[in-house]
Amino acid sequence: MKKEIIDRMVEIVGQDYVVDDLSQMKSYLYDETEFKIRPVADEDCIVIKPEKAEQISEIVKYANEIKFPVVARGGGTGLCGAAVPTQPSIIVSLERLNKTVEFDDKNLMITVESGMTLEGLLEELSPYDKLFFPVHPGDEGAQIGGMVVENAGGVRAVKHGIMRNHVKGVEIVLPTGELVNFGGKLIKNNMGYDLLHMIIGSEGTLGIVTKATLKLYPKNKHIGTLVVSFDSKEEAADVVPKILQEGITPLAIEYMEKVTSLESAKHLGLTWPAQKGTVDLMFILDETCEDDLYDKSGRIVEMCEENGAVDSLIAETTSEQKTLLDIRSNVYTAYKENIADALDIAVPSSKVPEMINELNRIAKKYNTTAPSVGHIADGNVHNFIMLEDGKLPDYLEDIRNEMYDAAIKLGGTVTAEHGTGKTRMKHMSMQYTEREIEIMKNIKKAFDPNNILNPHTIVD
Ligand SMILES: Cc1cc2nc3c(=O)[nH]c(=O)nc-3n(C[C@H](O)[C@H](O)[C@H](O)COP(=O)(O)OP(=O)(O)OC[C@H]3O[C@@H](n4cnc5c(N)ncnc54)[C@H](O)[C@@H]3O)c2cc1C
Repeated sequence: MKKEIIDRMVEIVGQDYVVDDLSQMKSYLYDETEFKIRPVADEDCIVIKPEKAEQISEIVKYANEIKFPVVARGGGTGLCGAAVPTQPSIIVSLERLNKTVEFDDKNLMITVESGMTLEGLLEELSPYDKLFFPVHPGDEGAQIGGMVVENAGGVRAVKHGIMRNHVKGVEIVLPTGELVNFGGKLIKNNMGYDLLHMIIGSEGTLGIVTKATLKLYPKNKHIGTLVVSFDSKEEAADVVPKILQEGITPLAIEYMEKVTSLESAKHLGLTWPAQKGTVDLMFILDETCEDDLYDKSGRIVEMCEENGAVDSLIAETTSEQKTLLDIRSNVYTAYKENIADALDIAVPSSKVPEMINELNRIAKKYNTTAPSVGHIADGNVHNFIMLEDGKLPDYLEDIRNEMYDAAIKLGGTVTAEHGTGKTRMKHMSMQYTEREIEIMKNIKKAFDPNNILNPHTIVD
């Protein structure tokens, strides 16, 4: 790294918060993308740990003047290589911007600095018995800023939606170094173009988020978890819209092929309690009163049985519920070492049974299996293309393209929640027309004329 860049960074944040030694920097170079497909990081980087937005503004202003890449670093839990610097870069770690700015219970909102982790936010909210923040991706090490710009989803989207539904305002540093605010504590705002929603999902390419205002919701006290087992994947998928049409909206409906639940339980040294069938649906319900919880749970089991379910169980205690959720949350971690690529396809939810059939057909064609879990009510299926003898299979590109193509033909998307990043950028043209991609490139140019912010991400 050039000496003048290091000197300028030391001037802005102080020697203690500049890391240019490779051994200390290594954990900032990669995210959680599968080892064999993640982009290769350029090690000629420097990590800066600012304490406030004004310092980030100075860093970015300087980088823009010398046209030098800047990559924002959140919790590093991303699954699309977006946080990996692929050319010499200043890595701006947000970890020290981790405080609550304002808890505003009258407006049911909280404003936090963007480097607060999800775990930190949950701790911060725990004394306030009545309110909670619903979005919960599987790794609580994710930071709020990372969740905003990845438009994170997770298991609770059935009832509460994704980050886009709950982020009301952001403070950001633009690629030119200016510090601006988009949105605010408003439920309605129709003035001009909606720049807030350009930032949500922008993967660190349009600005560095320094604060976010999030909507909070009343907490329901009565929580229950059900696991219902089926022999047929299609029957399991087919019952989900019927339950939603009945007016029952669980907090989560997770689809777990039995092999994935067993593998994750084994990895954690736990036992998956539902042994029958080949696939499970896990329902989490949160209700205002106990009677509703029991009525709705009973009705779900009844409808599943009418749709071919072979077994069901209810986890009543908090500890039983936690075990089930831990097993679900650790499926990816349990498989990770053997996964070539974990896809993040979504289709309209009515098309899920057809999608699952298609995924099975394509996997069979390549003489492999692609175990799946998914946020099924959102139409979002993560299926794992596995390594063969520890290597990327020769057919990886072909099988992946066929699966993406099948999803797009059903009106779906290549990525529902994990993001385009650097690993899926090459698939943009499968889903979008040239003209659509050109508009996206022009948006990038309008924000970042010198292309310094997280280059080679989403669009090139
Ligand atoms: C086990 C596991 C389970 C997961 N489950 C889910 C899930 O269920 N649903 C889901 O949606 N995701 C899930 N994820 C993915 C991941 O947690 C999310 O994408 C998360 O939003 C990433 O946040 P981060 O802070 O770790 O971002 P990072 O990985 O650090 O960065 C991601 C991108 O955001 C940019 N960035 C980070 N902070 C900022 C900022 N303040 N301003 C501007 N740009 C910034 C980076 O430059 C990069 O481009 C999971 C990941 C793991 C490892």
